[in-house]
Amino acid sequence: MNIALIAHDAKKELMVQFCIAYCGVLSRHNLCATGTTGKMVAEATGLQITRYMSGSQGGDQQISSRISYNEIDLLLFFRDPMTVKPHEPNESDMFRLCDMRNIPVATNIATAEVLIHGLERGDLDWRDIVNPAAVK
Ligand code: PGA
Repeated sequence: MNIALIAHDAKKELMVQFCIAYCGVLSRHNLCATGTTGKMVAEATGLQITRYMSGSQGGDQQISSRISYNEIDLLLFFRDPMTVKPHEPNESDMFRLCDMRNIPVATNIATAEVLIHGLERGDLDWRDIVNPAAVK
């Protein structure tokens, strides 16, 4: 599966801890991320991650573009609900695209835990049928 990782600044450390905890599962999938999130997770875990630009520089839109091609199977986007971001319209568009494609999305660690366990159990394997290119 192709998994996209994004975390706002206030949630980056949480994303790093999450990826350390689930490194084994994540290592069996293709990972991509926005710039700083990808850098921090890769440095902490050694996971191979395709890094796009920072969210504020268009990284969100690069990932949105992959979503619109149905190339992303799971989006883990740890949002900071307390701070307004100038690129928020791009983020809303990303969620809209995920809804169009029925792509599972977690915007907080509680949902991410549920999805990662589902991923481990094979609950998301239907995505391989939708997106055969994502099979690792
Ligand atoms: P970043 O981008 O991972 O490069 O910080 C994410 C964001 O803040 O939108």
